[in-house]
Amino acid sequence: MRWNLPPGQMPEAWFNVVPQLPEPLQPDLHPGTREPVGPDDLSPLFPMALIGQEVTSEPWVDIPGEVIDVLRLWRPTPLVRAQRLERALGTPARIYYKDESVSPAGSHKPNTAVPQAFYNKQAGITRLATETGAGQWGSALAFACALFGLECKVYMVRASYNQKPYRRVMMEVWGGSVVPSPVDDPDSPGSLGSAISDAVRDAVSREDTHYSLGSVLNHVLLHQTVIGLEAKEQLASAGERLPDIVIGSCGGGSNLGGISLPFVPDAGVDLLAVEPSSCPTLTEGTFRYDFADVAKMTPLLPMYTLGHEFMPPSIHAGGLRYHGDAPIISDLVKAGRMRAVAYPQGKVFEAAVQFARTQGTIPAPETAHAIRAVMDEALAAKQAGEEKVILFSYSGHGLLDLGAYDDFLHGRLDRD
Ligand SMILES: *Cc1c(COP(=O)(O)O)cnc(C)c1O
Repeated sequence: MRWNLPPGQMPEAWFNVVPQLPEPLQPDLHPGTREPVGPDDLSPLFPMALIGQEVTSEPWVDIPGEVIDVLRLWRPTPLVRAQRLERALGTPARIYYKDESVSPAGSHKPNTAVPQAFYNKQAGITRLATETGAGQWGSALAFACALFGLECKVYMVRASYNQKPYRRVMMEVWGGSVVPSPVDDPDSPGSLGSAISDAVRDAVSREDTHYSLGSVLNHVLLHQTVIGLEAKEQLASAGERLPDIVIGSCGGGSNLGGISLPFVPDAGVDLLAVEPSSCPTLTEGTFRYDFADVAKMTPLLPMYTLGHEFMPPSIHAGGLRYHGDAPIISDLVKAGRMRAVAYPQGKVFEAAVQFARTQGTIPAPETAHAIRAVMDEALAAKQAGEEKVILFSYSGHGLLDLGAYDDFLHGRLDRD
């Protein structure tokens, strides 16, 4: 019920979907001139290696040996068949998940934090600044910076900083320095968009510092493709051909991109994005150019967006509360190559609890969005009497989200 790849079989190159997208990607635009951004516009923020990956049309990009050495601390991650969940649902579908919760930070996010820290170190940068919502990305970057000997400064959305101390403590254990954001407005609960502004401001004001983003950008999705590449090998070991459907929860799109992009060229494979109905970027947003942050300092990205001033309600899936989506994911949805669904958090937590009571592990609320969709697809397969093969990304564990489970189990959770 569990397929491991030997450490020697970790992918040696990332898969670049850009040359295979149904419609060519539109360029990011400079916030002032509205002209396409060039490398010089981005060089105060990112090292040249990552700027190159942002625009490359090479089909594969080699993973540096130093990066593979660190990823091997937990990769390849297991592929698991959720047979107990299948039995509980009485479905003929076969459900497989890629377990990204086994990383040191407990989610898929270190898959890009590690190469980002590596390329910055290689470029002579000694300090990285970033934002974090509930702390998943900040903890991944603090971990990666510790391994490469970089300083890490994290601007954490104030509401989470005050309510969720444990991820802050993880960041501090790894040597990171964490402050609540927005820094200039102590009464504001903050948002991801305003924390990005704080981190970008920090990075452009110091020579020794670059900025690091945990999702949305092309190079981030590129780094996450190790998830889907490993899953392809492991499904073959499990005796499966291609999956019928690949499912991932979508905040900025890196987890979803990681599991699904290697399947884009496989025409028959249905790709499904899952988002919260309280932050419905793909299902109810509009496709247009928008800023990645509140202060309008970042380039304009072509994406589905709810508007850069959107203040998401404080649902428990902190990692899914972003106003936009990766341009790559937006392109796939706009062209009809990927579908999107949205669920209210009550339905999501019901699925999470059923998963925990059958498979054992307690998923992150973000991950539980994918699980809700997986269960609905498996029940539809039962209705139709179809032996579907379903693959999803188990993007993280929920052991630091027990407050949300407590609210759900005791009737205090807002079911929307
Ligand atoms: C951050 C996060 C997500 C979603 O983020 P993306 O930007 O869409 O990758 C999903 N699951 C977990 C556990 C996360 O931490």
